[in-house]
Amino acid sequence: MARPWSREEVAYLRDHAHDGSAAIAAKLGRSRQAVKNKACELGLSLLPAAHDRGELCPACAMREVDRSTVAGRNGLCKVCYTYRQADRARQRAAEIRAQREYDAARQDLSRARRGR
Ligand SMILES: [Zn+2]
Repeated sequence: MARPWSREEVAYLRDHAHDGSAAIAAKLGRSRQAVKNKACELGLSLLPAAHDRGELCPACAMREVDRSTVAGRNGLCKVCYTYRQADRARQRAAEIRAQREYDAARQDLSRARRGR
């Protein structure tokens, strides 16, 4: 026969759900299954809190964002940030090449107009 949950135990479970079932079970002297069942009944998640796992990169949804880095301050993980920088460098290189071609074409036009 299952021991009923006291108001204090339920409050503890609500406050510490993100600690996980093992830690709560040890603290309350209940089985992990009992903790899981009660958490389910109360609609509580026993998974670690988002801030414990770190903020996930919105671009890849795989790696954490480290706010102490330049990548992190731009809201991305290091890998996605570096890829973005690579894309920007490629874009800039293409712009420079396009500009050079445009300059050459204008010189050609100018020569053509002067009959050369
Ligand atoms: Zn990422």
